[in-house]
Amino acid sequence: MADQWYFGAGRLSRKVPPDMTEVFPVILFYKYVEVADPAEFATAQRELCLELGLKGRVLIANEGINGTLAGPSAAIDCYTEALKQDARFSDITFKLSAGDPGTFPKLVVKVRKEIVTLNAGDLEPDRDNLLNPSAWKERMESDPDAVVLDVRNRYETDAGRFENAIVCGIEHFRELPGYLEELEPLKEKHVLMYCTGGVRCEKASALLRQRGFQHVHQLEGGIVSYQEQFGNEHWLGECFVFDQRMTVKVEQGLKQIGRCAHTGGVTSRFVNCLHDPCHKLFLVSESAERANPDLRLCPECLAAGLTSETAEYRQPASL
Ligand SMILES: [Zn+2]
Repeated sequence: MADQWYFGAGRLSRKVPPDMTEVFPVILFYKYVEVADPAEFATAQRELCLELGLKGRVLIANEGINGTLAGPSAAIDCYTEALKQDARFSDITFKLSAGDPGTFPKLVVKVRKEIVTLNAGDLEPDRDNLLNPSAWKERMESDPDAVVLDVRNRYETDAGRFENAIVCGIEHFRELPGYLEELEPLKEKHVLMYCTGGVRCEKASALLRQRGFQHVHQLEGGIVSYQEQFGNEHWLGECFVFDQRMTVKVEQGLKQIGRCAHTGGVTSRFVNCLHDPCHKLFLVSESAERANPDLRLCPECLAAGLTSETAEYRQPASL
């Protein structure tokens, strides 16, 4: 039922039918701010979410909070009110999309060293070079020296990205420091960097500047905030999300770019490679997999000679 997902529905925007987010909204939020007592704060967050019947994932570290939660509308409202009453989070922004009771199978509240793992030492996240979506779009359209850089993972960019974006061949955000050599040619350019909701960019920006990139800008609120205002303008495909929906999209003017890794057919259907030691996330069309169960293997594993008979896996794949 992927057709039902929209960005920006509900209280932030009324461009799409409001009922879907009002029934079972998904919120996306983060803030870099000192949390002196991560373990204690995580316990309180876990209790609050359980009491409200929310599911999803909340990561807490000394450096802040990063979360996505889904639940009935009234419960989500209670949560957002409660978090804003905490002075550290009074100005936090919640981005809304539509979910359902299956969006997250469970609740996970964890204490981590970082709210997004970059593993690049002490980096103070950047906030001084944010461009709001209008300013970003304007810059992208008018600055001949601008290059658009997608700092998300490879599979996310497979499903959707900005026009002409430079993408990184990384499977995890923590691989970005090692990937910067590939981006050397951008050092003197005006780098317009973006991610899903902004949390990765604040750190990636600090990292790039530390490594000598001269002109770095980041999209405030990420793809989610941009699409709330500008839909599919300059945007291609769907936006990957880290929950059961896999992607969300704006229907109007959608230009699908996701392609089956095996057949090249248009698809936005993600699967994990059947071979558990690989488990790579990739796009494969349902019809291709139905016709040949071996296509549940990623192209690399298939090329290495594995088949659905010889692959190692615990759970049989099911269409
Ligand atoms: Zn594989």
